[in-house]
Amino acid sequence: MSVLIVVEHDNQAPRENFRYALAAAGQLGGQIEALVIGENCRAVADIVSHAPGLAAVRVAENIAYKNGLAENCAPLIAEQVGEITHVIMAAGSLARMWLPRAAALADSQMISEIIGIEAADTFVRPIYAGNAFTTVQSLDAVKFLSIRTTAFEPVTGDADTPCKVTAITSGGDSGLTEFIGERVSALERPELTAAQIIISGGRGVGSADNFKLLEALADKLGAGIGASRAAVDEGYAPNDFQVGQTGKIVAPDLYMAVGISGAIQHLAGIRDSKCIVAINKDADAPIFEIADYGLVGDLFEIIPQLQAALEE
Ligand SMILES: Cc1cc2nc3c(=O)[nH]c(=O)nc-3n(C[C@H](O)[C@H](O)[C@H](O)COP(=O)(O)OP(=O)(O)OC[C@H]3O[C@@H](n4cnc5c(N)ncnc54)[C@H](O)[C@@H]3O)c2cc1C
Repeated sequence: MSVLIVVEHDNQAPRENFRYALAAAGQLGGQIEALVIGENCRAVADIVSHAPGLAAVRVAENIAYKNGLAENCAPLIAEQVGEITHVIMAAGSLARMWLPRAAALADSQMISEIIGIEAADTFVRPIYAGNAFTTVQSLDAVKFLSIRTTAFEPVTGDADTPCKVTAITSGGDSGLTEFIGERVSALERPELTAAQIIISGGRGVGSADNFKLLEALADKLGAGIGASRAAVDEGYAPNDFQVGQTGKIVAPDLYMAVGISGAIQHLAGIRDSKCIVAINKDADAPIFEIADYGLVGDLFEIIPQLQAALEE
């Protein structure tokens, strides 16, 4: 068995989700290597080389990899397979772009968002918006897996000595796509998938202006702000706040659902939260079925009371 972890990074350091992928790789066993793709990303490879349990780091630096274009990066991943039996990445937009293409190029198929490893060829993944789990056995020679970080405990600490970092080369620019530009939203709050506390608002919040109530509470708690799809569709919150089946999957220590009914598509994104607090004026709202604490009442009374209590 030989596992290759594809590392997400910002050219300075690996993203924390690398350590979750490392945990999944550790469950598979065998030799574990990491692959760092980018431009001027040697520093990332050097940091990664200190992670425990790694046998080697491969680093591919090329201007063509700078912006993570799938058409350039996926062939590189596919070329790496050789003796590799499993290619692993933390689930996310990069894994969604790279892995299916790389798998296809390697005449394999991707298994996405796994939450459990039963054997080297058998994996558990959610289906039906997280309402059921399926156990999938793959007969492919190389398994391409994205892992849902919320289902794994990250590997911590560093090895006493770093492993070897080897530069690799590849085709670089496929000529199929061109990077034009990007617009990145400036984040003033913790990123939702990494936040320890999230306060999410639903349609019950009533307007974009009313979302400021949640912002004030989030400021007090150092929390990220989320939203249901209904709140996003109504224009109360931007699209990247959306939590749920078609939004972000989150796993904070504390998730506060404010004016959110608890539709299964929303619950699909919050099931791994350690503690769920629901505030809803409807005592029969489905959110109360999974909430650890429920406050039945008007959010416009409860949130200011909470705010005042925190200020005391
Ligand atoms: C394919 C598909 C994918 C989807 N993906 C997602 C997804 O990723 N995320 C997601 O969230 N949804 C998703 N949805 C939509 C989902 O089905 C629900 O429509 C949505 O989650 C409802 O949002 P909500 O709970 O904010 O609104 P509502 O269902 O309208 O609930 C509003 C709640 O606010 C309460 N309320 C109203 N006023 C107050 C007040 N003053 N104080 C306290 N409580 C109050 C009400 O009692 C009610 O429970 C998806 C749907 C489909 C079909």
